[in-house]
Amino acid sequence: MEECELCGREMGIVHVVSIEGAELRVCAKCSAEKKILYKEDPSQKALGEKRWVAPQKGKKDVELVADYGEMIRKKRESLNIPLKVLAEMINEKEHFLARVESQKTTPPDELVNKLERALKISIREEE
Ligand SMILES: [Zn+2]
Repeated sequence: MEECELCGREMGIVHVVSIEGAELRVCAKCSAEKKILYKEDPSQKALGEKRWVAPQKGKKDVELVADYGEMIRKKRESLNIPLKVLAEMINEKEHFLARVESQKTTPPDELVNKLERALKISIREEE
């Protein structure tokens, strides 16, 4: 929570006042008898920021390395796990995993997580 620039108390609604030409962010009490420029509701502001941040995060999660299909296949083969068995391990359809390995299908986040756990690999692009 933001603190009043005059008394240091935490405030709900922020009162932006003008004091000798300077803008100060103060609480309701300190804004009394001051020239109020505008008021801000931090709960509304927080909501707006969340909406803005969410799609960014989502986008980052699905960035896969360019050759993720080959990485999955190579790792699976090095562990001697047939595709059918891997499919059973992570409760997915064998033909769907085959499509992922040949990169005909981009795996959803959930499947990426399961593959990474099952094969102990990372197929996500590092930022
Ligand atoms: Zn105050």
